[in-house]
Amino acid sequence: MVITHSLGFPRIGTRRELKHALETYWQGSIPEEQLEREGEALRRKNWGLQDGLDLAPVGDFSFYDHVLDMSVTLGHFPDRAGLAEGSITDRYFRVARGRSGNDDRGCEIHAGEMTKWFDTNYHYIVPEFHSETGFSLNPERLVAQIREARKQGVAPKPVIIGPVTYLWLGKSKDDTDKLSLLDRLLPVYAELLDRITAEGVEWVQIDEPALVTDLDADWRHAFNVAYHSLKTSQAKLLVTTYFGDLRENLQLACELPVSGLHLDAISAPEEVARIVDWLTPLKVLSLGIVDGRNIWRTDLGRTLDWLEPVHDRLGDRLWLAPSCSLLHVPVDVDLEQKLDADIKGWLAFAVQKLDELSVLARALNSGRTAVNDKLTENARVIQSRQVSSRVHNPAIARAVDSLGSHAGHRRSPHSERVHAQRRHTVLPAFPTTTIGSFPQTTDIRLARQQFRKGELTDTAYVARIREEIAYCVDQQEELGLDVLVHGEAERNDMVEYFGEQLDGYAFSQFGWVQSYGSRCVKPPILYGDISRPKAMTVEWIRYAQSLTGKPLKGMLTGPVTMLNWSFVRDDQPRKDTAQQLALAIRGEVLDLEKAGVKIIQIDEAALREGLPLRRSDRADYLDWAVHAFRVAANGVRDETQIHTHMCYSEFNDIIDSIARMDADVITIETSRSHMELLDAFRGFEYPNDIGPGVYDIHSPNIPDKQDMVGLIRKAAERIPSGRLWVNPDCGLKTRKWEEVVPALRAMVQAAGELRQAAQ
Ligand code: GLN
Ligand code: ZN
Repeated sequence: MVITHSLGFPRIGTRRELKHALETYWQGSIPEEQLEREGEALRRKNWGLQDGLDLAPVGDFSFYDHVLDMSVTLGHFPDRAGLAEGSITDRYFRVARGRSGNDDRGCEIHAGEMTKWFDTNYHYIVPEFHSETGFSLNPERLVAQIREARKQGVAPKPVIIGPVTYLWLGKSKDDTDKLSLLDRLLPVYAELLDRITAEGVEWVQIDEPALVTDLDADWRHAFNVAYHSLKTSQAKLLVTTYFGDLRENLQLACELPVSGLHLDAISAPEEVARIVDWLTPLKVLSLGIVDGRNIWRTDLGRTLDWLEPVHDRLGDRLWLAPSCSLLHVPVDVDLEQKLDADIKGWLAFAVQKLDELSVLARALNSGRTAVNDKLTENARVIQSRQVSSRVHNPAIARAVDSLGSHAGHRRSPHSERVHAQRRHTVLPAFPTTTIGSFPQTTDIRLARQQFRKGELTDTAYVARIREEIAYCVDQQEELGLDVLVHGEAERNDMVEYFGEQLDGYAFSQFGWVQSYGSRCVKPPILYGDISRPKAMTVEWIRYAQSLTGKPLKGMLTGPVTMLNWSFVRDDQPRKDTAQQLALAIRGEVLDLEKAGVKIIQIDEAALREGLPLRRSDRADYLDWAVHAFRVAANGVRDETQIHTHMCYSEFNDIIDSIARMDADVITIETSRSHMELLDAFRGFEYPNDIGPGVYDIHSPNIPDKQDMVGLIRKAAERIPSGRLWVNPDCGLKTRKWEEVVPALRAMVQAAGELRQAAQ
């Protein structure tokens, strides 16, 4: 019999129960025991939803982050948290969330650093290593959950992060070679496996997704060392890889002395045959055949076509699973009441994906006829999506095709158009601006909500937003900023706002996915060819411009960010979808220009997020991503100034691509890294204007004027001061007006001081 299992299940609950439990606990409204009970209830429910599986994951649930949980299990808690008082739960959250400023004893407690989990939008807490790092086993959480699962009649398969990937995920704080810690780490893993087997567990899932990344000889060797050392364990280890293909690590993965290997057959279909050939005759091969990262229904017939021969060869050694943990998809599409019926029929969230898995397993175990109805229904749905006129609009394909190569090019190079722009828009040296959004007060959120529910008329809503825009413009004038914005009061989210106005996008009600901790996002669903029925921002921007004599910057979200923060159709290359988005946004850019807007910012906050895991795939991604941005931006006249914004500081590796975007001005996050970012400019002469963020908008603290002057002076060592702008790191929507006004006042004064010194 083919075994079915899953690598992990969404932990947030169908109604984001985890978020509510955590937030009420953090507010002090519920005690720790109640939080624990909520956790238990969620796990119970999740196992219930997975009861069609032969093996259910245990230990995939986490109150904040599974990597931090692994750190706890390995007794590897940042020292600063160990010194702090409080229960283990308190200390856990202190590392997870940090505290702003100082604690009551005057010590500063930083949050653990967070970074993206491979190429997903999930963020984990980075383990910190140094030469003294030690480990000691702390298995209670996992053991308790194994018992909990048992009690519920679930066959548990504990899930842990493998030792090599655990080191790979961490960061060395003192240049210690992370691999030098492997010897200290392995005995703790061995102990952990013993402890788990003592609970009567047979299989342990040990995640090693580092195997799908570029590894040098030392890291590859570490895999051999690690698994040879763990092979004495009684536990049967299923090493899992996901998010990519194994390539040069394929043989290594196949030959590890373990009992089974899981391969993500969605992202590495071409490796299945090679692995089947290579795997020793005793090992289990688990194939991820249902996409764990996207929300489309699987074509069951087509999957069986290639899976049946594999099954013929492997027999009971074949296991089936989703490609990766289902953490990255929403829980249950059946909850959706407002989705269009066609589109809803095309979707599978976590619960539906597990159903697909059981159908496939039954088809293999008992023949296709045993699940004939299901297969017929599936074929009908797949077919309806393939031919739907909601998905395919030939006019759009034609418009993209007819774009021509000049579409991505400005008429003149930056060095020339800069003069046209200076004549068109007169600005002082070190011009000041902001990134777009201003505080989103409860009042504004309420107005948007009421409008959505139909409790506020169109006219009343427009009046309310205009009032907010007027207030925002007024404040900026008073502060003396040079390039103003309208403040984005009408936007709930920078992707959703545009998605809602484009054809080809749909929105779920409950399609939440964890981003980090209690934070969830609800990515829009990009299901079909993209077009823009009408202008999306022009009226608001035109109104804002009418209120001031200063230049007002129009504000858009770029095509690559729209793509990277959505669930994207899987029936055409992402590159093609990006082109369609680019064309739609290009239309908006041109409409803004026609409306007299002289400066247009196109945010590409998520451009870096789409970067492939493998270095050799990056150039291709960057090529089409940059091209998409250029198509969106570059239809304008020379005198129109294009800005872009990116909110991260790791630029060094992609700086030349950023330059190729050819935006006249780029605003970037820099203050938290104290302009380390500008190192990128040491070896690369960035040709256009730059606004390195001079203060961190994530902190409520009012930035110090002198600090900001210092930062810009530092920047001026690398970049000619005539090309520097002065602005915050990112948008201000999460801040309060009381914080924003003094912060911007100090920023404007800092620019004033720089100007004076330059005279
Ligand atoms: N214009 C957006 C804002 O200011 C940019 C947000 C972002 O970069 N994430 O909110
Ligand atoms: Zn930003």
